[in-house]
Amino acid sequence: MTRTKILATLGPSSYDKTDEMVKAGADGFRINYSHVKPEDYPFIEKLARGIMQRHENVFLVGDIHGPKLRLGDFESRKIKIGDIICLAHYSESSGDDIPFQYKGLENHVVPRNRLLIDDGKVGLRVKDIKDKKIICRVLYGDLIESRKGINIPNVSIPMKYLSEKDERDLQFLVDNNFSYVSASYSRTAGDIKQVRKFTGDLIKIIGKPENYEGEKNLIEIIKVCDAMMVPRGDYGMERGVENVPAFQKRLIELCNIAGIPVITATQMLESLMYGRDAKRPESTDIFNAVLDGTDVTMLSGETSMGNDPVRAVRVMERIIRKAEQYLYSKKTGVDIGERINRMIKENNVSDRTSKRVYEALRSGIYEAVISPAHHGTSTKKMSRFRIKQLIYAFCDDEKVRRYLNMSRGVIPLPVINGYFSRDPIKFIEESIRIIKSKGYVKSGDNVIVVAGMGNYAKGNTNLVMEEIVK
Ligand code: PEP
Repeated sequence: MTRTKILATLGPSSYDKTDEMVKAGADGFRINYSHVKPEDYPFIEKLARGIMQRHENVFLVGDIHGPKLRLGDFESRKIKIGDIICLAHYSESSGDDIPFQYKGLENHVVPRNRLLIDDGKVGLRVKDIKDKKIICRVLYGDLIESRKGINIPNVSIPMKYLSEKDERDLQFLVDNNFSYVSASYSRTAGDIKQVRKFTGDLIKIIGKPENYEGEKNLIEIIKVCDAMMVPRGDYGMERGVENVPAFQKRLIELCNIAGIPVITATQMLESLMYGRDAKRPESTDIFNAVLDGTDVTMLSGETSMGNDPVRAVRVMERIIRKAEQYLYSKKTGVDIGERINRMIKENNVSDRTSKRVYEALRSGIYEAVISPAHHGTSTKKMSRFRIKQLIYAFCDDEKVRRYLNMSRGVIPLPVINGYFSRDPIKFIEESIRIIKSKGYVKSGDNVIVVAGMGNYAKGNTNLVMEEIVK
């Protein structure tokens, strides 16, 4: 069992391998709704229900399409460097023009802008805009295909945040008890609020800032999200590959300070898509994400389309395990907890309490943390220090149990005997009995209990207790 969680994207290669993937170390599954049509709903509904019935803590993430620009439908076409091609909205395109879906795109680009198609496989340079058509020269690439994404680095397009398809997909995610929706192309806090207005509190929201605007508004976006993703694929195209590492480290650090989980995504084991052997720097990438303080590492094409999704999870799990061993060994100077502790201001009782508990945990006296979790806020506040001890979160709500499984170092467990505030002493005794019976602690171990007491309000972490396992 690793502290850092694994999120695997499902697709044709892995729909029937979810049990093996959980066994190999997957903690959650993601479905990318850019590729889902309403006729796929019954299949996904059955798949999601089956996964949740068989795995009590697995969380599901639905990644909505969001305001991503796309080409329209046309016959795939071979191209070569230097070709001149013409892009136009469906309603304006004729002859050999390549259609795009967003009406009015031509009003937002200017000559010299770059258009990157299909995750950057094709690069175009805008030469001119004439009669509502965007005339481009091919910079690189050899094939241009229907419905592929378009990235226009450093250009903001005022697209409506949620399309009709997104709203339909959101409703589906809520109806099918997904734990999280990933809000693709989050540009502002307002985008996230639109999702929240639609879903209420029925699903947790992952912010996914992928372009200049999202990066500019990062702090505001984090404030209104339940979790964040570092979407290195699209971000790298929009902002340049050289900016990815700093963005990753900054976003992870900001989430750690805020006490919300963060996912590091994309191309972590890309070479395992079709090959047997991971490239050596890929292992360093995963290792470094763990050292940066990520909660989750994500697999995309490796598990949705790749040759051997189960192996991809297994390899990722092995690398995480090594990274965590290294992190907690005496050999390293990396100390995530100390860094985060220095940066957290003592603004409220929860921050003060969690900081004191973290400092106590550094003494090495305690073997485990018990965290009664009604909303899960106290649990996440402890998780952010990336302590060596595991945090056993006893949850009275299945939804909370699943969504807390995204937080690093947290082992969610169902509450057996009523909620904490009704009879705290009995609750603690019972919790200790359970973790002892599972072999997580033994007689004589010291455990520390961190909770919110007095009312159920979120973020009210104010109680610390020490117990010895009998
Ligand atoms: C990404 O761009 O890194 C990403 C996760 O996006 P997608 O949802 O397209 O995989």
